[in-house]
Amino acid sequence: MNFCSQCGSPVTVRVPPGDNLPRHVCDACGTIHYQNPKVVVGALPVWNEQVLLCRRAIEPRYGLWTLPAGFMENNETAAEGAVRETQEEAGARVELGPMFSFVDIPGISQIHIIFQATLLAPDFSPGEETLEAALFDESDVPWNEIAFRSVEFTLRKFFEDRRSGNYRLHTTALEIHPPLRT
Ligand code: ZN
Repeated sequence: MNFCSQCGSPVTVRVPPGDNLPRHVCDACGTIHYQNPKVVVGALPVWNEQVLLCRRAIEPRYGLWTLPAGFMENNETAAEGAVRETQEEAGARVELGPMFSFVDIPGISQIHIIFQATLLAPDFSPGEETLEAALFDESDVPWNEIAFRSVEFTLRKFFEDRRSGNYRLHTTALEIHPPLRT
């Protein structure tokens, strides 16, 4: 950020009095512009034995597969955000289950929260951020074309839990995404 969103003056980066981290500070109006991690919320929609994946029509990771997920909006719950993103990206309606994965990614200041979900019908109409939406058996999941490590983590834990019959919350911390495998 270069300019203050309150008054339009240039901002400087320094540690404010009583703080211990550098912030964007406006010396004209005194506003301290804090920047905090972003929350990504999504769903792991299931229809019978299959999981719903979406192929991305946007960067980053254009053309790769992901779970329906996106940035949480103001004034919604995490669960509401997961349902909304599933509707927007896959055109799919779901009944949400428990929170299934909670992934810290401190290198990019994000947390990713994915909920279990049941599709209400196997009908999709992908939104403009999605090339296609499709159901996959575990044996057909395109593991080498998964867009994000948090999604791969979530899917692997889901199939492990399904085999054991014991679904639970899985947490992990990932480093920043490595270069794409080619
Ligand atoms: Zn200002």
